[in-house]
Amino acid sequence: MTRIAFIGLGNMGAGMAANQAKAGHTVQAFDLSPPALDRARASGCAVANSAARSVQDAEVVITMLPAGAHVRQVLAHDVLPAVPRGALLIDCSTIDVDSARAVGAQAKAAGLDFADAPVSGGIAAAEGGQLTFMVGCDGDIFSSVAAALDPMAKTVIHAGEVGSGQAAKICNNMVLGVSMLAVCEGFALAESLGLAPDKFFDIASKSSGQCWSLTSYCPWPGIGPSSPSDRGYEGGFLTALMLKDLKLAQEASARAGGATPLGALAEAQYALFDRLGYGQKDFSAVLQLLRGRLDMLTSQEAG
Ligand code: NAD
Repeated sequence: MTRIAFIGLGNMGAGMAANQAKAGHTVQAFDLSPPALDRARASGCAVANSAARSVQDAEVVITMLPAGAHVRQVLAHDVLPAVPRGALLIDCSTIDVDSARAVGAQAKAAGLDFADAPVSGGIAAAEGGQLTFMVGCDGDIFSSVAAALDPMAKTVIHAGEVGSGQAAKICNNMVLGVSMLAVCEGFALAESLGLAPDKFFDIASKSSGQCWSLTSYCPWPGIGPSSPSDRGYEGGFLTALMLKDLKLAQEASARAGGATPLGALAEAQYALFDRLGYGQKDFSAVLQLLRGRLDMLTSQEAG
């Protein structure tokens, strides 16, 4: 049994903290939102009245926060001054590589081990303990990190040193954003050419156009395995989160002097879709924009 502090109990963190409690660990949970604390209490966690309090006895601290600024703030102001020496800090949020490296360096200077461990998988995977973790940490602590993540994980992969987990996450999601747009354009063009969408799916899924966005997460409703397109594009991976990850990829690319023109186009396309009011739809709903069929969707602005 391990004493775990869990900070950030939102859509993802709630299920992740619950799985740590279910595995028999003592979880001290903290979030700024009182309803999130109520949910954590109901799922078997103890609730702390501040982030600093949650970590004061912790052997492992896990954070699942919105963005880099939140992680920097919580680590510097709440965690580092209060956590016992020897604790392991694991940040599972999706944040920029520079912030991950900066908090990793701060932790190291304070004599603490740190890993960035962003996830692939959405809310259902978080609740079901089926997340894939991409871990950036020193090689000699990876087995401890993997053991701490185990109750929440389907797969845990060591990507390299601190920051590498975030690098893997944004590169993967840039590929996903670009491939989803390519699949959606394929469907839209097929329709314009009078080719039935199910025929396009049957042929492309057995040809060189095959990819995860087509065959596992088909954006055209009623085709392929069950996916958010079959449920009015509700749930799944929100357009707003895809846009966040594409922005992180472009920022990282600019800093590293990379050439990622398709990633830049994907960011612009998802920014437009988000501005039109569809940020809370699954990212595959962008198909309806490319088909000129936004009438198939209800936007946030339209209520
Ligand atoms: P969320 O907004 O639902 O949850 C974040 C939580 O952090 C909120 O409950 C908020 O109150 C809390 N918080 C903010 N500042 C805090 C502070 N200073 N102290 C304590 N709590 C604080 O976000 P989410 O969907 O759970 O996503 C969390 C992270 O996981 C993000 O970085 C996101 O990009 C990433 N992610 C999300 C998904 C997804 O499908 N939702 C999938 C993969 C990765």
